[in-house]
Amino acid sequence: MNEVKEKKKLGLTTKIFISLIAGAIVGIALNMFAADVDFVQNVLVNGVFYVVGQGFIRLMQMLVVPLVFCSLICGATAIGDSKTLGKVGVKIIGFYIFTTMMAVAVALGIGLLIKPGMGLDMSQIQTAEVTASSDSVSFAETLLNIIPKNPIGALANGEMLQVIVFALIIGVILAKLQDKTQLVTNFFQQGNDIMMEMTMMVMGLAPIGVFCLISKTFAGLGFSAMVPMFKYMGAVLLALFIQCCGIYQILLALLTRLNPLRFLKKFAPVMGFAFSTATSNATIPMNIDTLEEKIGVNRRISSFTIPLGATINMDGTSIMQGVAVVFVAQAFGIQLTPADYLTVIATATLASIGTAGVPSVGLVTLAMVFDSVGLPVAGIGLIMGIDRILDMARTAVNITGDAVCTTIVAHQDGALNKSVFNFTTLAGYVHWKLTGKKVLGVGDASG
Ligand code: ASP
Repeated sequence: MNEVKEKKKLGLTTKIFISLIAGAIVGIALNMFAADVDFVQNVLVNGVFYVVGQGFIRLMQMLVVPLVFCSLICGATAIGDSKTLGKVGVKIIGFYIFTTMMAVAVALGIGLLIKPGMGLDMSQIQTAEVTASSDSVSFAETLLNIIPKNPIGALANGEMLQVIVFALIIGVILAKLQDKTQLVTNFFQQGNDIMMEMTMMVMGLAPIGVFCLISKTFAGLGFSAMVPMFKYMGAVLLALFIQCCGIYQILLALLTRLNPLRFLKKFAPVMGFAFSTATSNATIPMNIDTLEEKIGVNRRISSFTIPLGATINMDGTSIMQGVAVVFVAQAFGIQLTPADYLTVIATATLASIGTAGVPSVGLVTLAMVFDSVGLPVAGIGLIMGIDRILDMARTAVNITGDAVCTTIVAHQDGALNKSVFNFTTLAGYVHWKLTGKKVLGVGDASG
């Protein structure tokens, strides 16, 4: 069953890449040779490509509210349920939120530095109304707006922050009431399954959607769209690199005194797996195993923190979202205020909690980040075509963030066996496996 899914997913990746390239070629050709042909422009570019491309975006938008709502309720129920919640739970959630906020800040900084969207004049090709956040709201107002006056209204209007708050409260209460509300818990769990399935179905249409969106973009802009696209990709990859090899490793060195290079070397296969599958969820078992056998983290901690991280901690995803905000704002000529940037940090952090650890969901929750600062959701169409490769890279960072935070918390909790981490040879590891496990308690060897 899993194998079948795996094959399907790999097929989809290839298809999306092919439609991306084909879309760019067709678009550039139309721009060069058929810019004045009315039929091509009216029927093909502004007809078929526009309708199919926008239809695909609407399908993605359709998923956002129910997907985030159900997945957050399930996530919160799972946390409240766990016996391990308590000191470790609070600590790990704190680290997860802190690293995600750092990630968005890095992304915004890199975006503002590289200016990927400059030189891309969307007004040439975009007729959809641009909803700039001209009426900037005060910080106090922004804070108050997190609390929904009417939760049903929040759901209906797609007020994502309010939806998230309401979902978290429901999740915590479901966890508290346990058997009494088992039916409702099951209802939301099944709702979550349905939304995941629907996401897969919509993503199945991605090759067609991507082809139409990219063809239309390039038909309007020609070659000039290439440079900003590459700049956007470069900015996301650079920010991912800084987060993974800079921020995480500094935190690791400062808080655990482990050698960051050795950590990266030992952890690289897990990153490779996450990269090739673009799925945090699928990486959970390998992550827990590697943390135990190569880094020395006791499963008591990781069996709780790694699945939790794969569900709520998506630093790589929030990096993509931060850069995308800057990119699209620049492309549409929308001026963002400092309050807008703070809102982006808050919503991207919450979006990371609501993003499921499967391919492409980060693109769905991006709609809510755009919405929070009044950026046109149609801007997602611009980056959708190149998102697949970025999805792979950001998933590798997502799961590295989970592992780093887990290692730090394990260290602080006396559940990190440094002698395992310091084994560099297979012989040393085998020796530990054969002898050490029986002799050493987890706490004995830490430090
Ligand atoms: N593919 C990502 C993950 O599984 C989620 C996303 O950013 O779409 O971690």
